[in-house]
Amino acid sequence: MATIMRMKEVSPKLLKEIEEETKRLKNKGIVPKLSVVIVGDDFGSKVYVRNKKEMCASLGFASDSYELPEITSEEELLALVETLNKDDEVDGILVQMPLPKHIDAQKIINAVDPKKDVDAFHPQNIGRVLTGDYDFVPCTPMGIMEMLKYYEIEIEGKNCVMVGRSNTVGKPAALLMLEQNATVTICHSKTKDLKAVTSKADILICAIGRPKFITDDMVKNGAVVVDVGMNRNEEGKVCGDVDYANVREKASFITPVPGGVGPMTVTMLMKNTLKSALLREKHTGK
Ligand code: NAP
Repeated sequence: MATIMRMKEVSPKLLKEIEEETKRLKNKGIVPKLSVVIVGDDFGSKVYVRNKKEMCASLGFASDSYELPEITSEEELLALVETLNKDDEVDGILVQMPLPKHIDAQKIINAVDPKKDVDAFHPQNIGRVLTGDYDFVPCTPMGIMEMLKYYEIEIEGKNCVMVGRSNTVGKPAALLMLEQNATVTICHSKTKDLKAVTSKADILICAIGRPKFITDDMVKNGAVVVDVGMNRNEEGKVCGDVDYANVREKASFITPVPGGVGPMTVTMLMKNTLKSALLREKHTGK
């Protein structure tokens, strides 16, 4: 039976480090600040925004949120992003996705100052992850790496299979595993005989978006399994991409859903916001 890798075990130490560094910065007159922008009435997005604001407050960060109506135009949103880019007290800008269809999301991502892009979605930040010379890493892949580090999972020389190739999860997670000297295979919807590939994984990371898609016959005995998926099952309950009940019998380590990688993402957002404030400290020479 696998060891369960839980966010609630990993996060407190990271949050304490963030809190202590925030206190040090505050003594120098720098208060890390996150600005969150949300467009439209999506209930889930509003809950995420509230969670982010609450975590900011608990860490001693400043935060503000801009809740704009669904009818907001692309130009209006770009103007707000520009105002936040210019505000010296704002360290992190997060535009909550998804955006309404009439707004070109990539255009908005491109407009955020890369130095304040705490989601690390800007092409400049994604590109820097590719070269290994980066300030920011997208929050979910960063959370995966912190999780593996906490549980002292050896990565070097291991076969890592990443199922999913999104720009925000799959591709950056694969790059970070490569950086740690894993031998990485990336799978996607056109991969032939997926089971043959996943069965060879020492570390299997799944970011697909399909409930219980990864079954125990697709997993090697003793594999480390990281489940990024956030889906709803037939009963409307949150579940991952992995058939958790059966796969945990075969895996050596596994993340649950909920309670695994998901909530780590917000912690990593706080870490990136602090990082941005530390860069401000460096640039202002305080
Ligand atoms: P995405 O952009 O929809 O990408 C899904 C990926 O899965 C694509 O690369 C797709 O392949 C691949 N895929 C789909 N069906 C497949 C199949 N049958 N076999 C193999 N690969 C398949 O999704 P995402 O944004 O990366 O998110 C993935 C999941 O993670 C979702 O459940 C999402 O809710 C969750 N998520 C959680 C967090 C968090 O916990 N904080 C953050 C982000 C995402 P193609 O490229 O060929 O289409």
